[in-house]
Amino acid sequence: MARPVIEPFRIKVVEPIKITTPAERRALLADARYNLFSLRAEDVIIDLLTDSGTGAMSAEQWSAVMRGDESYAGAKSYFRLQEVVRELTGMEHVLPTHQGRAAERILCAVVPLRGKVVLSNGLFDTTRANIEVAGGAGIDLPAADALTAHRPFGGDMDLARLDEHLARHEGSIAFVVMTVTNNTMGGQAVSLGNLRAVAERCRRARVPLVLDACRFAENAYRIQRDEPGMRDTPLSEIARAMFDVADVFTMSAKKDAIVNMGGLLGVRDGALAEAVKVNLILTEGFPTYGGLAGRDLDAMAQGLREVLDPHYLEYRYAAARYLAKRMEDDGLVVVQPAAAHAVYLDAGAALPHLAPSDLPGQSLACALYLAGGLRSCEIGELMFGPGEGRRQLVRLAIPRRVYTQSHIDYVGAVAEDVARVRHQLPAMRILSAPAHLRHFSAALEPATPFPEFDA
Ligand SMILES: *Cc1c(COP(=O)(O)O)cnc(C)c1O
Repeated sequence: MARPVIEPFRIKVVEPIKITTPAERRALLADARYNLFSLRAEDVIIDLLTDSGTGAMSAEQWSAVMRGDESYAGAKSYFRLQEVVRELTGMEHVLPTHQGRAAERILCAVVPLRGKVVLSNGLFDTTRANIEVAGGAGIDLPAADALTAHRPFGGDMDLARLDEHLARHEGSIAFVVMTVTNNTMGGQAVSLGNLRAVAERCRRARVPLVLDACRFAENAYRIQRDEPGMRDTPLSEIARAMFDVADVFTMSAKKDAIVNMGGLLGVRDGALAEAVKVNLILTEGFPTYGGLAGRDLDAMAQGLREVLDPHYLEYRYAAARYLAKRMEDDGLVVVQPAAAHAVYLDAGAALPHLAPSDLPGQSLACALYLAGGLRSCEIGELMFGPGEGRRQLVRLAIPRRVYTQSHIDYVGAVAEDVARVRHQLPAMRILSAPAHLRHFSAALEPATPFPEFDA
């Protein structure tokens, strides 16, 4: 019999989980106005809201915290981080930021964007917002069937559409962004072949290529596993090949650097780096700390060393795939292949009695909380507003190194209970919502009561 893929770590520090009853959760969710962001974290049993900044640091990372050099300028911590990032990415200029969106904001402040367009395989929401605030327009060019095709690399950019847009917007393209993995498209991986083909077109069109590298390690693992001819290439070489095609990278260190806070901006060009530093000093801090403490830089450097461990990535992807299969067996509809960092449920397909304006994703997310104290995230009409052809998704993101197989089994069992009553889940109505980023603070209510769940 095949042996199970085990968590390749032992647990040294534990954090208790408060177990709530269905009756308690009913009251808590009503108090939160059916918005899972408004719950207190302690009232959640398994928190799958995001994989961002929620990972568990290793013993070596905590040791690195103690080695942190808190000098204002030129701290040893910075040079340790610089060395690791240069080796990993080959980028000459390494600028820390307080999180990923700060790197995006700085890039969008120093590259002229007014009246320009940015082309992408899928812009993350903060990246798109930063481009728009700077006067630019973001255009996503995924494959038309990216979320339904079940291809190994559903995160790829559609090259024919890229060619068409490079021609159509000639002279007014600020840069191209490749997001790895493609969060907006269900966290699906991007192939090295596609990255190289996009880079080749960018070079010919003299348009810079930016890598949004948040999940570079998970993407590298998928390339090694599923791209023809890549099985025997070490993960560090694959990661380097991904960075090699880019002129700039932005990264949220809260993902694949496995720290709780931090970001990175990497730049090859000296003149661009100087402009970045001026803005960084103005808004984040001196370039050798960028809004972070020295100890944060050391933890980040160590996390970047650990994340390409093949056993860690194998375990992480195995957990996500297992959960995706389990949920599919339960009768839910899952975006396939599963991302490494999350399982995306298609609530629109699972709850066909609800129209997109009934917010099936939010209804399913609320039911998962009521049934078992799971916190997930709606990625559909509540998050983005009405949109033609948008899938109504619920994301169950898996924090790094935090939950064990039995936690994952529990999630599967809760999903099974919800799947059984999915045709009875109610439409959700928005009572009040702010104009922007409404999913964070909207107040909602179910049109009819949710079914009762047992403990
Ligand atoms: C999280 C994320 C960001 C933004 O990073 P923050 O650290 O949250 O500011 C950008 N792009 C992608 C793909 C992300 O997942």
